[in-house]
Amino acid sequence: MSDNVIFITGHKNPDTDSICSAIGYAALKGEGYAAGRAGELNPETQFVLERFGLAAPELLRNVAGSEIILVDHNEAGQAVDGIADAKIIEILDHHKIGGLQTAEPILFCNLPVGCTATILTLFYHQNGKKPEPAVAGALCSAILSDTLAFRSPTCTELDKETATKLAAIAGIVDVEAYAKEMFMAGSELGNKTEKEILYLDFKKFTAGDTTFGVGQVSSMSGEELQALKPRMEAYMKDSFSEHGADMLFFMLTDIMDESTDLIYCGEGAEAAVNAAFTSDAPDRIYLKGVMSRKKQIVPQLTEALK
Ligand code: MN
Ligand code: MN
Repeated sequence: MSDNVIFITGHKNPDTDSICSAIGYAALKGEGYAAGRAGELNPETQFVLERFGLAAPELLRNVAGSEIILVDHNEAGQAVDGIADAKIIEILDHHKIGGLQTAEPILFCNLPVGCTATILTLFYHQNGKKPEPAVAGALCSAILSDTLAFRSPTCTELDKETATKLAAIAGIVDVEAYAKEMFMAGSELGNKTEKEILYLDFKKFTAGDTTFGVGQVSSMSGEELQALKPRMEAYMKDSFSEHGADMLFFMLTDIMDESTDLIYCGEGAEAAVNAAFTSDAPDRIYLKGVMSRKKQIVPQLTEALK
């Protein structure tokens, strides 16, 4: 790790928001700050960085003993290793408040919007600055990614307005077409193992004494998801004990259909799913209108598991 800089980083299993908001905030902060990352880039984020000619943030292995700024998360369980022995000096996020504690007052900005990059763009305005085109492109991509191109129920008017302004700065002419291209680039499921797919976007949560993991894959192609579903069901069952959770859930989210097929395993998982959700199909857990893990899956499961 480079010395003498304060790293800004998103969560483990980083998504486009975690990477691009770290880049965007480091660019705004300037000298003395650098973007970091808490894991490997996913194909969607690689596409975005290549498109706008941005370098990948430095991989952070352990942040113990350093000062650190967190973006796009505020739970120790999702943070880079060593977080318990690091000094968190700022947090910018758009998730539920998850229990991190600090010894001193810090800047902690959490807004119920669709993406951290939206909050960051507000910070740019507040400082009388405009992101440069490449950074604007990255921030716009983060908003499109987190809001599934404005289709997710987490998406607010502010996210839409912000992404549209950023697109203009970045020279993205057709936002919808660009989003489709980005999602396609991110959806390289064919050549991945089931394990890689489970962990593409996987988070662990606790409800009472139960630890549960929820993975999600989003695709523009319903056929791709239906082909993947039996593979993932078999894999989750066979590998269940390896994942350190009492229950596993996996969301197959169809972006065009605006729906999620939910699969699960572990004792009690079926009962929790039945208590939490009403399926819109007789033979599977098909949830029309459900696309957000954060808003439409985790709170409902947490409630059912209490
Ligand atoms: Mn994220
Ligand atoms: Mn986010």
